[in-house]
Amino acid sequence: MSEDAQDLGITESKSHKPGEWYAEVVQKADLADYAPMGGFIVTKPRGYALWEGIQDALDGWFKETGVDNAYFPMFIPESFLEREKDIVEGFDPEVAWVTQGGHDELEERLAVRPTSESIIAPFMADWIRSHRDLPMRLNQWCSVVRWEATETKPFFRTKEFLWQEGHTAHATDGEAWEEVWTRLDQYARVLEEVLAVPVLRGKKPDHDKFPGAETTTCVEALMPDGKSVQSATSHHLGQSFAEAFDITFADEDEDEQTAFTTSWGLSWRALGAMIMTHSDDQGLVLPPTIAPTQVVIVPIWQADTKDDVLDYSEGIAADLETAGFSVELDDRDERNPGFKFNEHELNGVPLRLEIGPNEVDDEEVTLVHRPDSEQTVADRDGIVDAVDAHLDGIFEKLYDAAATNLAENVREAHSPEEILGTIGRHGGYVKTPWCGDEACETVIKDEIAAEIVMQPVDEQGGDSAGEPVRPDADATCGVCDEPADEIAYFAKSY
Ligand SMILES: [Zn+2]
Repeated sequence: MSEDAQDLGITESKSHKPGEWYAEVVQKADLADYAPMGGFIVTKPRGYALWEGIQDALDGWFKETGVDNAYFPMFIPESFLEREKDIVEGFDPEVAWVTQGGHDELEERLAVRPTSESIIAPFMADWIRSHRDLPMRLNQWCSVVRWEATETKPFFRTKEFLWQEGHTAHATDGEAWEEVWTRLDQYARVLEEVLAVPVLRGKKPDHDKFPGAETTTCVEALMPDGKSVQSATSHHLGQSFAEAFDITFADEDEDEQTAFTTSWGLSWRALGAMIMTHSDDQGLVLPPTIAPTQVVIVPIWQADTKDDVLDYSEGIAADLETAGFSVELDDRDERNPGFKFNEHELNGVPLRLEIGPNEVDDEEVTLVHRPDSEQTVADRDGIVDAVDAHLDGIFEKLYDAAATNLAENVREAHSPEEILGTIGRHGGYVKTPWCGDEACETVIKDEIAAEIVMQPVDEQGGDSAGEPVRPDADATCGVCDEPADEIAYFAKSY
């Protein structure tokens, strides 16, 4: 290996040092850098392009389902935040405050938004007059700040992070539930169909729901190191925010009614989950559905074959571009093919086409899959269809590997020792009947920092909270052995 190639390559191992490995992939694949202030990152163009891929998908689905984008200030007056005391209590230690503007002390502190319910709700209250103004569905793409004193992990743990937050108001509880499930479905879809990351869906235990919410629903993804990532949440806020902020409307009989509200958000943590799920010791691995470059063509020539190889390669690049694929023809003179292979592997380009004099003579193309180096030869004729099929195949490989990992790592356990032992040995999820008492979670949390990350719910997608999935009638809590009528998934989490 040349010195260049060593600088380029990943030196940490995913299985042995997942934390160091992840940090190295993010930096060497040019996704992000660390900012000078602890807890902040700089998102580089390659990283931002991935976020835009998520935005494009979600934003389109939001708009198809009645959501309008808007933008509210990043500063929230303290008095606004205090109108919903639950939010303040939930976020108090994590709020960053502005106390001075220019040379002057501010009369009222301004919070840097940790989330925007308390600035959006008062305006909704103003804008909503009658039942004809409902439902109102607003979304904003923005960043929020939560001053957590934890180690920085790009896209997972940063004080400022990018997300979208949706805020809606409805005339009935049922419509609010439909909203909650619609967004949760869209989050699951973006994870599964765009990022190739299978998820579990359900709700958070009551003691862990969003401050002020009636119910917090979530999608959870399992990482290869056995920890769960909360990838998005969709909250049914009941009428608590509407009451605190006077979101009322005149119904058809001109009677005043209080609205039901929801809020829902997906952050760039979903991106971190995707990077961690698929990438390997060679670097970044991306599903073709989100890769900014889906196909790279690496021509391999000698002086006497260069013109023919380049001509042939350009023709293929043009065909693929016309068909709508994003293609890069890497015809750099100063780099040899081996260097190019390594670089595109590091950057996660899903499919590589290798074209040398033999391919030109035989009117063929060699295709190499990024995730597992599987190599096939396809005819020049029909290369567009072949590339299409191979990209689909690469997506399937990634999704299937993650789905297998998820399926193999949901285990049942029926005593505290078994729960602790199973998570300690294998990681993953432990599914167990639960009495509903937070104290039983604490027993597990204190020992190995695993908690209840999700509770499965039936009849999701309807206009109600859905029925919790129940254990057998005679089931007892996996921790305290008292009668249990709920099911809990314990896991360590990010
Ligand atoms: Zn219990």
